[in-house]
Amino acid sequence: MIRIKSIETAGKTGERVLLSGWVHSKRDHGKLIFVDLRDRWGIVQVVFSPQNNEVLQEAQRLRGEWVISVEGEIKKRPENMVNPNIINGEIELEAQKLVVLNESKTIPFAVDTDGYEIGDESRMKHRYIDLRRERMKKNLLLRDKITAFVRNFLHVEDFVEIETPILTKSTPEGARDYVVPSRLYPGNFYALPQSPQQYKQLLMVAGLERYFQIARCFRDEDTRGDRQPEFTQLDMEMSFVKREDVMRVNEQLLISLVQKIMPSKKIQEIPFPILSYKEAMEKFGSDRPDLRKDKKDKDLLAFCWVVDFPFFSAECGPASGGEKTKWTFTHNPFSSPKPEYREILMNKEKIGEILTSQYDVILNGFEIGGGSIRNHEPQALRKVFEIMGYSDERIDDNFSHMLEALSNGAPPHGGIAWGLDRLVAILAGEPNIREVIAFPKTGDARDLMMNAPSQIDEKQLKELYLSFTKMPRPSGRGV
Ligand code: ASP
Repeated sequence: MIRIKSIETAGKTGERVLLSGWVHSKRDHGKLIFVDLRDRWGIVQVVFSPQNNEVLQEAQRLRGEWVISVEGEIKKRPENMVNPNIINGEIELEAQKLVVLNESKTIPFAVDTDGYEIGDESRMKHRYIDLRRERMKKNLLLRDKITAFVRNFLHVEDFVEIETPILTKSTPEGARDYVVPSRLYPGNFYALPQSPQQYKQLLMVAGLERYFQIARCFRDEDTRGDRQPEFTQLDMEMSFVKREDVMRVNEQLLISLVQKIMPSKKIQEIPFPILSYKEAMEKFGSDRPDLRKDKKDKDLLAFCWVVDFPFFSAECGPASGGEKTKWTFTHNPFSSPKPEYREILMNKEKIGEILTSQYDVILNGFEIGGGSIRNHEPQALRKVFEIMGYSDERIDDNFSHMLEALSNGAPPHGGIAWGLDRLVAILAGEPNIREVIAFPKTGDARDLMMNAPSQIDEKQLKELYLSFTKMPRPSGRGV
């Protein structure tokens, strides 16, 4: 007999079917045993009765979260047992055959609650159990719907989905890299990408014109708020565009995504308001203002764009003792300045006044994305690195491949990346991105389930020519 899903039971009254899943709950009334059988799609009530006495006896040993298959007849529930508030509340399965596929220990916490009341450590350690709860399943399904929608929308708009490497070279997004030692080239390291920034620009040089990727990014930052060492971006790049073109596609995508996937949500203002960085700071004291008119309304979405950020900020300057100002980029060193500041950049004048072509998209006070039009002229990109005080040698060491690529017929281009975890969390009404990631790390960057990071054995260290001058703490958290 072929197993059917719990949602396929409707309309099968009188038929013999096979259902499989987990014992969600069990109520033993002696002569009758009721089991709520849960599969991915929902719950079906199974009744074990003396009519099939052997099966009834067998059902007595069932415990929560055991995995079972039940064959039986779908029946209409007696009038007084009908529950119109739940799916399958009008039917039940009368068990005629029971197979225990796997037993389960007593699980460490309940899965029939929303789980907020359970300590994070425990949830993370047994994440595969935590994910059984309805709320977590809903979040993962919502995430899947969103990514499927995005993929479809972008394909219709002629974007190509392209994967870029995970083992790569450091990119200067401003955070610390995760590094991977190379066995074949002792003493050399790959870096995990902080974003696919350089690769996506190189794809534009390659002539792909419209790229996207649902890309994993890695940043080794100290624990700061709701961050994860690895997170997901919806990453895009387009050729022959101005910033308005990139903003338009993204705004359309966000609007149609909300309208199709989350029709109960209301977007406060369309088109999205556009604020300059200066305006945002003056009016709201923040470059990611929360523009919601009613912050109590959980269905209100206030998107806006923030543009015209300063390109550089002073890391230290004349104020701190008269030495030369040291500049760093505020967002992305590969951005171009706004066109009217190009000359100033080339002359390396009035550096603090140069505005970048950066645009950030904000939702309810969270930055959910950001991007820019890129500096596609090698001599202008070189100026950016010079302003930041990089020596010619360092520029060539780190960026010669980019400068070289830009010297081989690079089209003007620009793009954006969304913080996909954050967007999904806001749409799911979750306070924390951990709630929308299947297997997140803890706030202090550990995977409690796999017990990572962990030490590796002597042989692996030797192969990599790695040794420690001082052994890390013996807690298994080193390396
Ligand atoms: N790579 C940038 C980031 O990770 C986004 C972009 O400019 O496209 O923030």
